[in-house]
Formats: sequence, structure tokens, C-alpha cells
Amino acid sequence: MKAGKLYFGSNLKMYKGVADTAAYLTELQRLTADLNREGIELFILPSYTALPEAARVTDQSLVRLGAQNMGWEEEGQFTGEISCRMLRELGIGMVMAGHSERRHVFRETDEDEQRKVRCALDHGMIPLLCVGETAEDKRYGISREVLTMQLKIGLYGVSREEAPRVRVAYEPVWSIGVNGTPAEPAYAETMHAAIKEVLRGMFGEAGSRIPVLYGGSVNPGNARELIALPSVDGLYVGRAAWQADKFNILIRDALAACGR
Ligand code: PEP
Repeated sequence: MKAGKLYFGSNLKMYKGVADTAAYLTELQRLTADLNREGIELFILPSYTALPEAARVTDQSLVRLGAQNMGWEEEGQFTGEISCRMLRELGIGMVMAGHSERRHVFRETDEDEQRKVRCALDHGMIPLLCVGETAEDKRYGISREVLTMQLKIGLYGVSREEAPRVRVAYEPVWSIGVNGTPAEPAYAETMHAAIKEVLRGMFGEAGSRIPVLYGGSVNPGNARELIALPSVDGLYVGRAAWQADKFNILIRDALAACGR
């Protein structure tokens, strides 16, 4: 049996509107209500416009809600941004930083992600920092270096006391979305072990308490093998999680693979 808490989350990206998000969350809570939350944590990141309704229909002791992005200032002349204070006002306590689409489509930098992580921690939120190498990085053999840089800059200034509030998702860029190829389990394990080593180097024992989730084309065919890997603490699922009944089955299969 695999020990420790297991994490299952999904980023809904820019797909579900208000009504679809509420229906999805209602169904997911109903289907997973019997799963013991001491052993697992479930979290969902809806679109901004759906967050107020999501917060209304969700019991966050069953499904934690998070935002997909955040501006790093409390308020000010930052047109189009949503601040941590605004998210807290809605009862949102988790925020993602550094999703590959933010880094590669919107050209965000490691420094941008670091400011969001800092702001989240300063406001009592849980930051979920996504890291991952591109196909080119992998070809040049610099995946570890890239991951190390993303972690060291993204988590710069985080104290040992704060570290256990952080979560990390390893999402190789080449594995994400409709054109992605899932990482081979052996490769995912090697990268997760490398990430954990960096986290221990940065935060000592507190670093080993940071959960590291795998994301990138997780599906019903590979979830069991990926979650059973020793250095994988959870699954961060996109497409395969966007129907509540399918996500529920994937979670239960993954738990069974861990002897739960
Ligand atoms: C993602 O976009 O973070 C993701 C993991 O998506 P998918 O599972 O669809 O590859």
C-alpha cells in the first residue's frame, strides 16, 4: 500500500461556463463523497467567471477550489488582472502559477510565477507551481536543469515554514493537451525524483512534505501506473477529468492501484 496523502486535481482551462461548472462540481462531490478526505485531496480550478457559483455549490472540505491564475498585487493599475484579495473574497484558497500555457502562450517568466507564489503565501493561499521542460529541452538533455531553474526561481524566498503549503505539478510541456504524449512512467519517476531532490536541497525536511503531482495526458489507461510510482504524490488531470463520472472512476482506479 502506498502511504501518504494522494492528490487529484483538474484545471478546467477556458472551457466550462457558469452552469456547466456548477453541474460538474455538484456531480463530482456526489460521486466522491464517500472517499475519505484524510487520505486524499481533490481540487478543481474553474474559470474566473464560474468561481462565485462554484464556491456557492461546493463543500470545500470535499473539493477544494482554486484559481487558474492571479495578479500578484493586491490592487492597483493592473487592467484585466484579478488579485489575491479578490479571490480570497470569494473563498478561494488555492491558485495555480506557471501552467505551461501561461508560460508559453502568454510568455510569463519564472519571475512572474515567483511573484504569484509569494503573493499567494502572503495571503494565506496554497500556491500550485507548475514546472516542466519543453521537447527541445528534453532533446538537448537539459530537463533537470530547466526544472531546477523553474523551482529555484519560482519558489525563491519561500521559507522552510511556508514550504509545506506549496504544491508542485510536474507537467512536461510535450505531454500536455490534445497533441501531447504522456510521459513514460520510468521517465516521470526520474523527473519526480529529481524535483524532490531539488526541493529537499532548498527546504530540507520541509521539502519532502511538498506534494509533487504528475500532469500531462493522464488517462484511464495510464493513471494506475503513474500514481503507483514512488515519487508521484498525485495526478493533475486535464481532459480525462472534465466529465465527473469519468474522473470519479479514474480516481478510484488510481486509489486501488495504491492499495487503497
Ligand atoms: C494540463 O493542461 O495541465 C493537462 C494536464 O492537460 P491534459 O491532461 O489534457 O493533457
